[in-house]
Amino acid sequence: MKSLNKFQQSLSLKEKNLLKINSVARFFIEISDLDDLNSIQDFVTEKKISFCTLGEGSNVVLPNLIDKLVISISYDEIIVEENLITVGAGKNWDDFVIWSLKNGYSGLENLSGIPGSVGAAPIQNIGAYGSEVSHFIEEVICFDVELNEFISFTNSECNFSYRKSIFQKQSSLVIIKVKFKLSKDFIPNLEYEDLNSLKEDNISPNTIREHILKVRNAKISDPRICPNVGSFFKNPIISRNELDKIKQINPSIKYNSYLDNKVKISAAFLIESLNLKGFTLKNAKVSDKHSLVLENKSEKPKDILDLASHIQSLVLDNYNINLEIEPLIF
Ligand SMILES: Cc1cc2nc3c(=O)[nH]c(=O)nc-3n(C[C@H](O)[C@H](O)[C@H](O)COP(=O)(O)OP(=O)(O)OC[C@H]3O[C@@H](n4cnc5c(N)ncnc54)[C@H](O)[C@@H]3O)c2cc1C
Repeated sequence: MKSLNKFQQSLSLKEKNLLKINSVARFFIEISDLDDLNSIQDFVTEKKISFCTLGEGSNVVLPNLIDKLVISISYDEIIVEENLITVGAGKNWDDFVIWSLKNGYSGLENLSGIPGSVGAAPIQNIGAYGSEVSHFIEEVICFDVELNEFISFTNSECNFSYRKSIFQKQSSLVIIKVKFKLSKDFIPNLEYEDLNSLKEDNISPNTIREHILKVRNAKISDPRICPNVGSFFKNPIISRNELDKIKQINPSIKYNSYLDNKVKISAAFLIESLNLKGFTLKNAKVSDKHSLVLENKSEKPKDILDLASHIQSLVLDNYNINLEIEPLIF
């Protein structure tokens, strides 16, 4: 079998996940050369194991043992064809945002400072400050390990919506490249409330980026100091009827209009209204800075998952709302 020596055994992933969970991958392969993708199918068949993909570990809760082959894509080439830019999945997301702004493209500035890789960006359709990555994706190029071939998805085939895409259900696909359509005509997106203080005159993509980085740093604990995966819960999307019921429980509920006459309510508001900001359970804590962020001090996943369950059951008891967990629990 070609490139057998590229498969590592019993590799620690502690430095490869931002919760710093002491996880071990039974087998691990890093793909920098795309030819190596062809050896994966034979390897998993021979070892009778399944596989999973890990990016930079900024949105996962890992178990202590992953009894699988863990695939990590480090291929990070950038290919430019006018306003279509194809980027290798292994490129760091924020480095790509910087690259796009330096090369005169705009659009990605509102998504500045989001940790992780380009390959993971379509998975949950990363979003922040009034923007989502799906607005800029033309095509997602994947490798299907079961079929041992490449397969591409157009933007509409990705079924993007809030923190969702088709890729969350397609476990045999590894994203290899993402093709973006970016413009050189700058249209500022300042609708999000934290950006309201910026004035449209004299504004540039870089001013928006710098402002967002400041706001993000003030709000979200640095995962290198307090291990965390950003927001642990999604903002619930509910009907207007359900909203009316919640208003009876708490008239000051925060929400925004969403598609199809629905509303997106603030999960942070729900958590704070139950006095859970700063709440600690064993080695896990609801951040003092942002109540959607859970900080982890344990080498095992149990404490943070117990804290998440505790929050979910209090929100369910008090508001009859199921808070959905955002990171992938492996
Ligand atoms: C401090 C902090 C702030 C954050 N802020 C935001 C935010 O503002 N908005 C937002 O949307 N998210 C945010 N996140 C979440 C995170 O940054 C994103 O979800 C990011 O896209 C995860 O990238 P990753 O490479 O670390 O993926 P991982 O965490 O390694 O993986 C996430 C999921 O993607 C899958 N995956 C990864 N790479 C591939 C691939 N190449 N092919 C197939 N599947 C793959 C994994 O199997 C897993 O299911 C934040 C996280 C942190 C720690």
